[in-house]
Amino acid sequence: MKGLIFDIKRYSIHDGPGLRTTVFFKGCPLRCLWCHNPESQKTTQEIMYYEDKCILCLTCKHVCKFDAIEIKKNKISIDTKKCTLCGDCTDNCPTTALKMVGKFYDVDELVEEVLKDKSFFEDGGGVTISGGEPFLQYEFLIELLKALKEENVHIALDTTGFTEEEKLIETTKYVDLYLYDIKHMDSGKHKAYTGVGNEKILKNLKSLDKHGGKIALRLPIIPSINDDEENIKRTIEFIKTLRNVVSVDLLPYHSMMVDKYKRLNMPFFVSHIKEPTNEEMEKLKETFEKEGFKVNVGG
Ligand code: SF4
Ligand code: SF4
Repeated sequence: MKGLIFDIKRYSIHDGPGLRTTVFFKGCPLRCLWCHNPESQKTTQEIMYYEDKCILCLTCKHVCKFDAIEIKKNKISIDTKKCTLCGDCTDNCPTTALKMVGKFYDVDELVEEVLKDKSFFEDGGGVTISGGEPFLQYEFLIELLKALKEENVHIALDTTGFTEEEKLIETTKYVDLYLYDIKHMDSGKHKAYTGVGNEKILKNLKSLDKHGGKIALRLPIIPSINDDEENIKRTIEFIKTLRNVVSVDLLPYHSMMVDKYKRLNMPFFVSHIKEPTNEEMEKLKETFEKEGFKVNVGG
């Protein structure tokens, strides 16, 4: 059994307590308009094209056995219908202008890779499994959790919560902390902005709480989408019904990922959205703190 992983980030301080190694699973059932990792969405490998690095040497076109590469307007264009993701172009590009996103690992390989950092976990850090949505590769996820548990490392699982309840609850045997997203309290708006309603996500969150899962709630703060007074009020009311929330993490929207959309030839629909100011984030932090929550800005 292999898992498709699109990144492994070391020494992270924003993905749970302490210093962490974060493993990013590829594939997500949501399509948040502000997605910071658009390369996480597809369940297959894909190719990123860094136009600024390309010297138009045409090596990629010559090595492609499937005639999938053309030059259009002084840029490489890959015909995804012809491309088999064989990797010959990415392997042979002399300037790394083409990059294959997603690598297959078996559990042992991945555990060996993350345990290279084990000495850094001693001060309360550990491994965070993120995505994409890890539950889309459920069998692989469970095997990875079992293997990491045997190694006695602290495990955080970052999830959209959009999965089957039984699968989520099964992971409570292994997971020390859930990083669980709430994106909008209004299901219609949630569907408009992420592609799915929020009923399953909120129901699963209640169930996880009831089963004793420790939860760091993650609230992406997207100006004009979910930062209005009413949504914040409804979010607070909902969180107050839970017993196992250890923190509320406010994650300010940023637009640093816009170039990734270009590299993947994906449309980006929310270029009009501005990043929240420090003052706005501070005010929101105070609002949640007044309700008695431990609040972090930025995770
Ligand atoms: S091999 Fe790399 S640098 Fe050369 S044309 Fe292709 S993408 Fe550009
Ligand atoms: S991955 Fe393979 S098939 Fe696809 S464009 Fe590159 S060389 Fe051609």
